Amino acid sequence: CGVFGVFGHPDAATLSYYGLHALQHRGEESAGICTSDNGVFHYHRGMGLVKEVFDRDHMESMPGDRSIGHVRYSTAGESKLANAQPLVFKYRGGDLAVATNGNIVNAPQIRRDLESKGSIFQTTSDTEVIAHLIARSPKELVEAVKDAFAQLVGGFAFLIMTNDRLLAASDPHGLRPLVLGRLGEGYILASETCAFETIGASYLRDVQPGEILVLDKDGLHEERYAPLERRAVCAMEYIYFARPDSDINGINLHASRKRMGQQLAVEAFVDADIVTGVPDSSISAAIGYAEQTGISYELGLIKNKYTGRTFIQPSQELREKGVKMKLSAVRKVVEGKRVVMIDDSIVRGTTSRRIVNLLREAGALEVHVRITSPPFANPCFYGIDTPDRRDLIASSKTIEEIREAINADSLYFLSKPGLIESIGGHEDALNRGLCLGCFDNDYPTQVDFEDAKIGCG
Ligand code: 5GP
Ligand code: SF4
Ligand code: MG
Repeated sequence: CGVFGVFGHPDAATLSYYGLHALQHRGEESAGICTSDNGVFHYHRGMGLVKEVFDRDHMESMPGDRSIGHVRYSTAGESKLANAQPLVFKYRGGDLAVATNGNIVNAPQIRRDLESKGSIFQTTSDTEVIAHLIARSPKELVEAVKDAFAQLVGGFAFLIMTNDRLLAASDPHGLRPLVLGRLGEGYILASETCAFETIGASYLRDVQPGEILVLDKDGLHEERYAPLERRAVCAMEYIYFARPDSDINGINLHASRKRMGQQLAVEAFVDADIVTGVPDSSISAAIGYAEQTGISYELGLIKNKYTGRTFIQPSQELREKGVKMKLSAVRKVVEGKRVVMIDDSIVRGTTSRRIVNLLREAGALEVHVRITSPPFANPCFYGIDTPDRRDLIASSKTIEEIREAINADSLYFLSKPGLIESIGGHEDALNRGLCLGCFDNDYPTQVDFEDAKIGCG
C-alpha cells in the first residue's frame, strides 16, 4: 500500500490526489483521501485507481489544509470497500483517521483479545486494531498512540489524523518506507520520495525506525515510541516494489537496481546477443548488466501500461490471465538472438515461464534468465503480497528444477552478499540494515504467531 499526508497546506486534497497518483504502483485496488478543515473531516474512498475513485466534485467537497490518503492492495483483509482506507472513527467527541502500509503480525491476537473485552470491529482490515487500542487508552492522544504501537509486532508505516494533529510513525525496524518533506509552509509525508517530485515538495528525511512524528499548530515534534533494535528495511522495496525514481534511506532505486544487474554479470556472466529487462521493475537492472558486459541492452519486452501489476490481482487465475494482457515480446528485436532476460524475482514461477515462452515464440534462440534477488523461499509477514510457502517455487524446487520449470536455457539468482552490496546502506548494521526474511528465513520480528496474517493492511 501507499500512504500520503499533508499538514499545513491549503490545497491538501489536490496535493493528495497527485501524491497518491505517484504512489499508485503500491496498490491499485482502492484509494481514499480524508481532509480536515478547521477540525471538520471530509473524506471519500472507493474501489479502483486514484483517477477512477475521485472526480472534480469529490475534490471540491474536501476542503482543508491537512489530509491523509491511501492506495491499497489487499492481502490481509478482503478486497472490498469497507476495507478501503483511510479508516475514519469517532474519537473522544472528535474524529480519528488512520492510513497504513504494511502488516501487523499479531493483529489477529490483539483483535480477539479486544473482542473478548467487548470491542466491535467494522472491517476485516488489521488497521482497525490500532484505532481500538488508541481509543481504549485513558492517556492523551500521543501517549495513547505510543502505547498502542508498543503492542504491535510487524512492519508498518502509519499516518493518523485527528481534528488538530497529524501523526506519522514507522515500525521499530523501519521495514516499510516513509519519508518527510516540505512544501511551502507545510509538511508532506509519503511512502516514497517520487510523490515529492510530483508535487514539487522538497525531501527532508526518512522517518526512522521506532519514531513517531507529531505535527500540530506548533510545528513538528520528533519523538520515539520504541528503541532502534535492528534496522531492517524491506529488501523487496529495493528489488521490486518501489519506483525507480524514489530514494529509500537516501539510496536511489534505479541506481541500486543497476548495481544488482552489474553484480549479476559479475557473478553469472553468460554471453549473448542482447540483454532485456522485464518491464518495469527490471529495466534498470538490465541496463546494469548491459553496461557491465558490453552486450547491448534492447527493448525485447514491452509492457502495456494500461493493465495493472499482475500480482495485485488477487486470484491465481486472474494473475495468469494478467500476464498475457500485460507483456509482449518484440519479435524484430529477439528473433534469432541469444537473449539474457533479467527479472527481479521468481515467486510462483508462472510469470517467468510465460515470459521465457513469449521470447521463444518470438524467435529467441536461447533465453538465459538472471534474477536480481536470491530464491524467494519464505513468505513475507510484513505487507508484501506472497502466496503460502507451498506455492513459492523456490521453497520446494532446486535451482535446476526451477530452470526446467520456467523453460530457460540457464538460470541464476543473485547471491545474498551480492544483493546486500548492490543496495548499500548502513555499514555497521546486520545485512547492512536490510530485511531479507523471504530469502534467508531470518525475520527481524517474532513471526510464529497463530494465524499470523501475511499481507498489507
Ligand atoms: P511469479 O514467479 O510469481 O509468477 O512472478 C514473479 C513476478 O511477480 C516478479 O517478477 C515480480 O515482477 C512480481 N512480484 C514481485 N514481487 C512480488 C511479490 O511480492 N509477490 C508476488 N506475488 N509477485 C511479486
Ligand atoms: Fe521485504 Fe522479504 Fe522482509 Fe517481507 S520478508 S519485508 S518481502 S525482505
Ligand atoms: Mg516482474
